[in-house]
Amino acid sequence: MATLLIVEDDALLLDALTGQLQQLDYSVCTATSVPQATALLQDQAVDGIILDLGLPGADGMELLTWARAHIAGLPVLILTARDGVEDRVLGLNAGADDYLTKPFNMQELQARLQAMLRRARQPAFTQASSAAGGASTTIGPLVLDHASHAAALNGDLLDLTQREWELLELLVHRCGEVVTRDDVLAAWRASPPEPGQTTAAPLNSNALEVYVHRLRKKLDQSNLAIRNIRGLGYMLEKP
Ligand code: CA
Repeated sequence: MATLLIVEDDALLLDALTGQLQQLDYSVCTATSVPQATALLQDQAVDGIILDLGLPGADGMELLTWARAHIAGLPVLILTARDGVEDRVLGLNAGADDYLTKPFNMQELQARLQAMLRRARQPAFTQASSAAGGASTTIGPLVLDHASHAAALNGDLLDLTQREWELLELLVHRCGEVVTRDDVLAAWRASPPEPGQTTAAPLNSNALEVYVHRLRKKLDQSNLAIRNIRGLGYMLEKP
């Protein structure tokens, strides 16, 4: 269970957010100001911060700067009403991992949190290679054999190209979590070109969409669905 620190001075929003994240199995601690948050962070380990910027006394950006200087690799998602491009750039340049503006959609916040915490735990490369180390993975009607790069659906061998296999393996490995476009493209770029391919096909978002489309068709006869997570990537839903 990941522990999140929410820094938010709007009591209603803080309560609602705490309740919803606890329902999603996060352990939550809260602060309503920058001094309160820094005191808490010196005392308690957290896995990530949801940070409001408009706080009484000191601005949330001060906490971001403090956290960057004192706690290596602690992921921070800024959740603020400041929706200007320059605010966003300022926040990301100061080291925030993500930036979401109010009003926000809870599902989107959840997806972004998951992606952020996962990135913080392990870089994409290690994820891809550790997935390849296991013997086999079963998700519902789908079985992946990692050594032979073969997949079977309802007992029938799936006809997959190398890129399709790599995409499917990533999705299966992180079933129920968002796999970003960059994660897939990084895994593709780290692997050799497809056999029989004389010129390397461009590996970009358009190519990825094509592969996702093909994979969906191949998983057609099952309860497995690859969902589009807008602006982020894809997620294999748990059957
Ligand atoms: Ca505020």
